[in-house]
Amino acid sequence: EKKLAPAVEMRGITKLFGDFKANDGIDLVVEKGEIHALLGENGAGKSTLMNVLYGLYKPTFGEVKINGEVVDFQGPKDAIGKGLGMVHQHFMLFQPFTVVENIILGEEPTKGAVLDKKIAREKVVELSNRYGLKIDPDAKIEDISVGMQQRVEILKALYRDAEILIFDEPTAVLTPQEIDELIAIIKALAAEGKSIIIITHKLKEIKALAEKCTIIRRGQRIDTVDVANTTEADLAEMMVGRAIKFN
Ligand code: ADP
Ligand code: MG
Repeated sequence: EKKLAPAVEMRGITKLFGDFKANDGIDLVVEKGEIHALLGENGAGKSTLMNVLYGLYKPTFGEVKINGEVVDFQGPKDAIGKGLGMVHQHFMLFQPFTVVENIILGEEPTKGAVLDKKIAREKVVELSNRYGLKIDPDAKIEDISVGMQQRVEILKALYRDAEILIFDEPTAVLTPQEIDELIAIIKALAAEGKSIIIITHKLKEIKALAEKCTIIRRGQRIDTVDVANTTEADLAEMMVGRAIKFN
């Protein structure tokens, strides 16, 4: 039986800003249905790598394949077209509009696109039920919590049929209870075959959630490990580059 191509295969990704190397020859392979954590200190180059994947940045060097096909994204629109979705660190939502309105905003008025609000609302409700993303579809963004606003971002990606979801430090803005709920949502997404990349520097979350973890330090990939076989102490050590002793 032929093995499926990885959902994501980034090879030798280098990204220069001037002569600063934000990414230096990074490889990242994510299988379909996998939850893959990206671990690294602030400034390590994690968001840059994901911005390359999502078509926000062009890599200076390197190759990106999606489902085995080489891609050359000119912008996020191309990435979305190939099944990518991104839940940003800072949400890009319009406060005075409702959940459903925000989800359909930005929809390209191309042939077959669903612009009818009633039909869109049904699709949003269906998606939120399927993945346990409880939300009031008619609430205004300005009236809902940050955790709910993040769900809107997730639903927005799913509404556009995202199969590969990137989460950039999604738990930084959440309460402990919201974090537990997000972990359950991400697991439900992966169980349905979605591929997940999650940026975090919280080791407990990685242990609770991810199967694989790629550690990035100063723009370079240090290692990619099976999370089940790696302790939090080992992850921390790879992240900072030296042994950490706790009393
Ligand atoms: P992380 O997400 O791991 O915290 P980033 O990928 O955001 O790190 O940033 C990596 C490095 O690249 C940082 O030193 C940051 O200042 C730099 N950098 C990121 N984006 C830009 C940019 N658009 N222009 C110049 N430097 C950038
Ligand atoms: Mg970042």
